[in-house]
Amino acid sequence: MLQPFKVTPFRLYDSMRRAKVAFEPLVPGKVGMYVCGPTTYAPAHIGHAYSAIAFDTVRRALTFLGWDVTYVRNVTDIDDKIIKRANETGQDPLAMSAHFAAEYNRDMARFNVMAPSVEPKVTTHIQQIIELVARLVANGHAYAVGGDVFYEVRKFPPYGKLSGQTIDQLEDGARVEVDTRKKDPVDFALWKSAKPGEPSWDSPWGKGRPGWHIECSAMTVTHLGVTFDLHAGGKDLIFPHHENEIAQSQGADGTGTFARYWLHNGFLNFAGEKMSKSLGNVFNCDQIAEAVGGEALRFFCVSHHYRSPVDFDVQVVDNTPRFFSLEAADRSLAGFYTTLQRIDQFGAELTPGPVVPEAEKLVPDAKEALAEDFNAPGVVAAMHGAAKLANKLLDEGKGIDKQVRRRTLARLGKELREVGQAIGVLTQEPATYLHERRERLVKAKKIDVAQVQAKLDERKAARAAKDFTRADAIRGELAQLGVEVLDTPAGTDWRIADSD
Ligand SMILES: [Zn+2]
Repeated sequence: MLQPFKVTPFRLYDSMRRAKVAFEPLVPGKVGMYVCGPTTYAPAHIGHAYSAIAFDTVRRALTFLGWDVTYVRNVTDIDDKIIKRANETGQDPLAMSAHFAAEYNRDMARFNVMAPSVEPKVTTHIQQIIELVARLVANGHAYAVGGDVFYEVRKFPPYGKLSGQTIDQLEDGARVEVDTRKKDPVDFALWKSAKPGEPSWDSPWGKGRPGWHIECSAMTVTHLGVTFDLHAGGKDLIFPHHENEIAQSQGADGTGTFARYWLHNGFLNFAGEKMSKSLGNVFNCDQIAEAVGGEALRFFCVSHHYRSPVDFDVQVVDNTPRFFSLEAADRSLAGFYTTLQRIDQFGAELTPGPVVPEAEKLVPDAKEALAEDFNAPGVVAAMHGAAKLANKLLDEGKGIDKQVRRRTLARLGKELREVGQAIGVLTQEPATYLHERRERLVKAKKIDVAQVQAKLDERKAARAAKDFTRADAIRGELAQLGVEVLDTPAGTDWRIADSD
């Protein structure tokens, strides 16, 4: 059959079917994807970044495979947590949530998380939410009590399918919550009546605001339609949030509608423990970006499969958290940028003609890895292979045609960037990245830059005077300070020597 779109087919692990399946689009060549976004009441932390990076990688991978992706990620800008925090701090809830939403996007951009195609907010979808709740009341899936509206879970028999539980099991396990207005403890709120001082909107049930779950059902239908391709979110959202989304949307529009595939990402663990405030391992994005740079976290994340639980090594040294996992990722990333810089300095151009056959593998290998459940670590492995080949060609050109060598290096430089882009790394100019990295390491290792510069000047003078013994001695003195001197075609430079 003639393919109207040049796309690479892919397989993905669908949490609903509990199996890896081949993806079939609703519309050829297109993917509509919805990701549950943040509730903005505090600065974003590493857990938020981890989830945002996972699904941004899926989006980039799909784009790399030729798909036209519409990526919708919401912002919960009114919610119990927001109201509670605003009351505690004496702020206006909506102003506070808008502030943290802007901060969230600024933080995610540091990790090369792209802005969504659409970023719906609860406060701008109140009308759609009210209409959806009204439909559920009208068709008997929901009931109003006073100013509140609850979803009647027993009216939706498939409830629990995603999390693998029955309604009876859920009822047994339901926390002892005495809410006599509910018909059943498993019923959940679609609309909450206004309490004094809370932001509220007019509705057929009086002034109030939406419950948490209903927004995603209203936003998906508004921006992607009654049925759409991929729904993604953290594993912790499967129950109750995603079960409730399914119940709401299919309750309103019939079974078989809503998301066709479900993606959930694994947890980030800290020495085997989950992230929690009490364990003191909730690190803000600011802290991470300042310590190791945002791209190191990105590289760390894509070096692990998005569904695997990942162990994150952080230890407190001299009262300062040391992110050992990220420092290792940063060293690896610096290796790639150094390779790219060397290729750029080599100055080769991509001319038509043959290349070293091994260099032709990078793009097909990256596509193959991403088409099999978004295997980003497979891409990283292919990139390592390509960088190794590039460095070999840079180090020596013996036994290889000069033009083939030049062309191969140019191609590797171009394709390492393209493949990097597919997983959200190698997006900066090498000089910019390497300079910023040096600044961070200078600060962390308390290196006196003026002293380094004085020694470099002294070495330059010694070399000019052909006193190579002295020049070598100065190189040794700088090495003692943790500084490595680099004599490149572009002149003398220096970097902080890597140490584990
Ligand atoms: Zn959601």
